[in-house]
Amino acid sequence: MGEAVGSKLYGLTAPDRQILLFYCPGCKRTHPYHVGNKTGPSWNWNGDGDKPTFTPSLLVYASETTPRCHLFLTDGVIRYCGDSEHDLAGQSVPCPDFQHDSD
Ligand SMILES: [Zn+2]
Repeated sequence: MGEAVGSKLYGLTAPDRQILLFYCPGCKRTHPYHVGNKTGPSWNWNGDGDKPTFTPSLLVYASETTPRCHLFLTDGVIRYCGDSEHDLAGQSVPCPDFQHDSD
């Protein structure tokens, strides 16, 4: 259960943190940022759902469903690090409007 946060994010509320999803065009699926998480990895967010900035970088380890993905999301622009394993490695692209995973 959750709700849209601006055009780029979708927010889920957990008891101890906020989870903000965005759509990654490199992996063609959503990734989560955890904000205010006291018991695990946590990111800082500028509170903007249209031009979101999160720090520090997000690293998604390779799995059966996703390649390795390493990025910065700043002012609504995704900058992929060169160690990402998809076609957008090393490129900067606008964060697309949020869409849910199809699977
Ligand atoms: Zn990705």
